[in-house]
Amino acid sequence: AVAARAIDLYKIYGSGDSEVRALDGVTLDIGAGEFTAIMGPSGSGKSTLMHCLAALDTPTSGDVQIGETRLSRLRDKALTTLRREQVGFVFQAFNLVPTLSARENILLPLSLAGSKPDQAWFDTVVDSVGLRDRLGHRPSQMSGGQQQRVACARALVSKPSIVFADEPTGNLDSTSSAEVLAFLRRSVDEFGQTIVMVTHDAVAASYCDRVVFLADGRVVDEIRDPDRDQIL
Ligand code: ADP
Ligand code: ADP
Repeated sequence: AVAARAIDLYKIYGSGDSEVRALDGVTLDIGAGEFTAIMGPSGSGKSTLMHCLAALDTPTSGDVQIGETRLSRLRDKALTTLRREQVGFVFQAFNLVPTLSARENILLPLSLAGSKPDQAWFDTVVDSVGLRDRLGHRPSQMSGGQQQRVACARALVSKPSIVFADEPTGNLDSTSSAEVLAFLRRSVDEFGQTIVMVTHDAVAASYCDRVVFLADGRVVDEIRDPDRDQIL
């Protein structure tokens, strides 16, 4: 099954001599229950592609499909609902609320949506990510790796159909990175989570099922079940 699909996506900035094709005809299927890495040089269109797939940005032409839904058919309100109910995000800078505890941060997407947490699912996620004894801590009382694991739990707590991670290990040392990546991998293997991760790091990409390479706004290569040496 396909969790998300980019259909002949173009994102064009400016015009004439100053035209920039951030996306220059990208067609890509993201398999359900797969962990996909997007790699490529700076400026190759990784962020733009992820933002379009996540319904945070609108392509100049082409379309994005999340599950069975074509985003071009949705009005703003329906897009907001889709983002809230079906998409989870993990950012490089964690983006936790400093005044809230880990527990409150994890539950924030549900609180904002006015939904009731599924306690069993909350416990499953918290245990899987190894945060049971940190739930009362604020972000400033936690290491970077712990904060990013809180952010991962927050991304999963609303059972999104797809999680987008933008350089999730970019601010972490190798030990913390490994913990975060191991959790993301486990969430794919044990919960069937679909994850798309932008990364510069070959070690991070080696945790994925598939690596898609962008250059100049196009998909130029793809590897399945990569090992580190293939990516470097
Ligand atoms: P990456 O994430 O791979 O570094 P981006 O998706 O951020 O690449 O950018 C792709 C190209 O689009 C780059 O040339 C970038 O400068 C350009 N770009 C991105 N956003 C804008 C914007 N808002 N206005 C103009 N150009 C942009
Ligand atoms: P990232 O590190 O995630 O690739 P960037 O630093 O490339 O992010 O871009 C940060 C923000 O600036 C994004 O919202 C992007 O769309 C915008 N941006 C990137 N390049 C340009 C550009 N040439 N002109 C205007 N905005 C840009």
